[in-house]
Amino acid sequence: MAFDPIIKPEDVRASASLTKEIRAKFTWDDARAMLDGLPGGKLNIAHEALDRHVAAGQGDAPAMTWLGKDGTRRDLSYGDLTGQTARFANVLRAHGLAVGDRLFGLMGREVDLYVAALGTLKAELTFSPLFSAFGPDPIRTRMEIGGANALITTASIYTRKIAAWRHELPSLKLVLIVGDAAPEGCVALGPAMAAASDMFAPVPMDPEDAALIHFTSGTTGRPKGAVHVHGAVAYHVMTGRYALEMRAGTRYWCTADPGWVTGTSYGIIAPLANRVHMLVDEAEFDLDRWYGTLQAERIEVWYTAPTAIRMMMRAGEYAAAPYDVSSLRFLASVGEPLNPEAVVWGNRVFGRPFHDNWWRTETGGIVIANTQGMDIKPGSMGKPLPGQVAGIVERGDAGLRELGQGQVGELALRPGWPSMMRAYLHEEARYAKCFVDGWYLTGDLAMRDADGYFWFVGRADDLIKTSGHLIGPFEVESALIEHEAVAEAGVIGLPDETAGEVVRAYVSLNPGFEPSDDLEKSIRGLARKRLGAAVAPREVLFRKTLPKTRSGKIMRRLLKARALGLPEGDISTLESDES
Ligand code: ATP
Ligand code: MG
Repeated sequence: MAFDPIIKPEDVRASASLTKEIRAKFTWDDARAMLDGLPGGKLNIAHEALDRHVAAGQGDAPAMTWLGKDGTRRDLSYGDLTGQTARFANVLRAHGLAVGDRLFGLMGREVDLYVAALGTLKAELTFSPLFSAFGPDPIRTRMEIGGANALITTASIYTRKIAAWRHELPSLKLVLIVGDAAPEGCVALGPAMAAASDMFAPVPMDPEDAALIHFTSGTTGRPKGAVHVHGAVAYHVMTGRYALEMRAGTRYWCTADPGWVTGTSYGIIAPLANRVHMLVDEAEFDLDRWYGTLQAERIEVWYTAPTAIRMMMRAGEYAAAPYDVSSLRFLASVGEPLNPEAVVWGNRVFGRPFHDNWWRTETGGIVIANTQGMDIKPGSMGKPLPGQVAGIVERGDAGLRELGQGQVGELALRPGWPSMMRAYLHEEARYAKCFVDGWYLTGDLAMRDADGYFWFVGRADDLIKTSGHLIGPFEVESALIEHEAVAEAGVIGLPDETAGEVVRAYVSLNPGFEPSDDLEKSIRGLARKRLGAAVAPREVLFRKTLPKTRSGKIMRRLLKARALGLPEGDISTLESDES
């Protein structure tokens, strides 16, 4: 574990949303009380995100600033988005789509994607976002699993990736193409929206009605389709407030794409339901663009991921120096373990630490978090949010056994929070297996310390057993990136006759460093000093980049399969890589 000094945020303690009193008294009704709801105990995510703010006289409040790749900028108010999503809902109705139908989103971070997501929910359809960069096969598989009835995409994506097999998916009734023209058999969104009314009352839904299907990142295998319900919005509002410090008007930037659950839960629903002013950047990561955006848009709350933070670190803290980022008051990270080094780096460069939080597609929202005002122990994921009960358990023949502080075991949660998935599509047995003895089992290994902080150790699949030691890759990777030359590290175990497994590390280098035997020795030397000879990698191999999912997660299973010459398995979410 990391022994960096605890970061004590004295200056923000008083302004934290999540106070000791709230923690002590919290019930799920408190979360539901943050919603307006609809008559008869009904609700609709889109109503909570948009229409209710207009009804409360906030129609002119800024909802979204959109930055196009080409430098275009669009500002949309809550009134604008409410009207546009109404038009979208009317377009769906005009084409005969209704309750339970499933619309897939397959396009970049354009305004129409956001309109489609909420317009779909308004019209009681289920929305499923996909990464636009997926190839034809991953798209087809997911649309088949999801039984897609409608799709919104661009003409270019349609022609390149969909047209060839479209008619082999008979459930697909409507293909909407953004812009003013559409290929044959598709409907152009522009004219359809122009002809539609901008009035559409969000359909009152039961809190248990399906709203979203999110596919998991595919880090450990074939992605699973997790089903989420309208009632989840209570959890999105509450965690937006307590874990991400959202308030009405907060200038907020979530860098995640809606193709990944983070980009929907915290890139669409939570911010809008909390009436923040959110930024959407169509472009991909670019160092100067990002620093420039933080400055120009005076971002206050910024939610990003370790892969992006490591890219910023790679460029050095001097790259940040020209920019005034003093507007930032809260920084958070999710998706992968956040190396202690990155937390400390954030504190130095931004004057605020990154607040790591843990959750997953299945949980629908943030579960364990470092919240504003908490002492931060760099390398820890923080503590369970109000309403969440987390435990560390061990599976045995007699059922589950809860482990005590300091012991490493499987991270488990007591089910029952509003945004928990309700099913894995077509995988009932797999879903049922996640629940044992009243716990939801995550397959992630973790440890709880004496102060109640949780520490991520690794995914159960990635754990390395060497000479009687159990090693989580995160610990080794964190030590490796402390080396001045190392930008990123991925650590795996390889079979070994004497040790059981030996630790092998793959690293990519910071600018100005070249692979060499001396450098390899120096990196291994530092790891040995930090971790001891038993845990330190026996080999360090250099790679230009590490294989990652589209949501930026290092795919250790792929490093391992390649090292062993085994089949690569499902690589539908792999970003192009050079390893
Ligand atoms: P798949 O389930 O398809 O293999 P995935 O688990 O990567 O993919 P996601 O739901 O996007 O899909 O990711 C959730 C997982 O990411 C968590 O179970 C955990 O392993 C990891 N993770 C997320 N946030 C953190 C964090 N703050 N610290 C450590 N690990 C994290
Ligand atoms: Mg997973």
